[in-house]
Amino acid sequence: MYQLPQYSHITSFSKVAILTSGGDSPGMNPAIRALVRTATSFGIEVIGIHRGYAGLLNEEFETLNSKSVSGLCHRGGTYLKSARCLEFHEAATRQRAFDILSKHGIEALIVIGGDGSLSGAHELYQEFSIPVIGLPGTIDNDIYGTDDSIGFDTAVTTAVEGIDKISDTAYSHDRHFLVEVMGRNYGLLACHVAIAAGAEMVIVPEHQSDITDISQQLAQRRKEGIGSSGIIVVAEAGKSGWSNQLSEEMRQLGEDPRVCVLGHLQRGGKPTAHDRLLAATLGNCAIHTLLEGKTDVMVGVTKGAVSTTPLEAVITQKKGLPVEVMDLINELQH
Ligand code: ADP
Repeated sequence: MYQLPQYSHITSFSKVAILTSGGDSPGMNPAIRALVRTATSFGIEVIGIHRGYAGLLNEEFETLNSKSVSGLCHRGGTYLKSARCLEFHEAATRQRAFDILSKHGIEALIVIGGDGSLSGAHELYQEFSIPVIGLPGTIDNDIYGTDDSIGFDTAVTTAVEGIDKISDTAYSHDRHFLVEVMGRNYGLLACHVAIAAGAEMVIVPEHQSDITDISQQLAQRRKEGIGSSGIIVVAEAGKSGWSNQLSEEMRQLGEDPRVCVLGHLQRGGKPTAHDRLLAATLGNCAIHTLLEGKTDVMVGVTKGAVSTTPLEAVITQKKGLPVEVMDLINELQH
């Protein structure tokens, strides 16, 4: 359980809306459930907006209550569906969105999504002063202001389960596999997967990897009898499928690795208990944070405690890869 702040409510709301946006992540559903149940406990009506900002513009609204969110905890994806909406980048479109929210008497908006989705929420607040709260919903865990994001643990678990299977065939055929995982431009997902799966190496965008050096290390390990097979976890680094190019380069250097791109498999599936607990906590805290009169913030976790970070910082600052993660990986290679 996370350490929770002492809340002091100073304001009230009659009606708030929630939406999920951008890439879906396992755990969005328990977050929706927690938001609705907590809001209901304070007498706040909740409007669920389907299909993110696109659904907001099309007024795809559903009143949510305790019953409509029952049975959501274990379901992957998002009940509210998600979408990308390019026109939301335009000020005139956001004006239209604000007019729709006002027309429906919606006093605050809670957005679950990645940094793009949270940028949209921040702009709505900046332009119209409508209270907004963001929740980090992404398997990439690349959002500044939180150590963890809803869906990250499930994606790590799914990737590790996949690699466990690939490892069996890698061992049987004395083969190396490049297993590419998601994470956009952030390498933490790849690092966690590599540690948990017992991978030989990891290639992440934060550190330059020399393919010649990697190929030589593999050859050396084989010579020493400690690595005739194994897994190299490759972060997609914003270029899904680029591990095919890496394998080609390794082939030129005498290695013959196979490639497995895990792809969207990592986005789906039942959220783990960890992600459900995180989602329930953040969903609950989002309502308390609104009632405390805070706005334009993301609710996340920092060093085991629930934290709030201004959305301005969330969308302008870059999260670094913790040094200790790479140290651990390096020391486990020996
Ligand atoms: P994620 O939220 O997972 O990072 P995207 O970056 O695709 O995913 O963003 C999801 C949606 O959020 C976009 O389709 C758009 O509707 C909205 N959005 C993203 N960036 C902005 C921005 N700078 N201003 C307004 N809306 C944005």
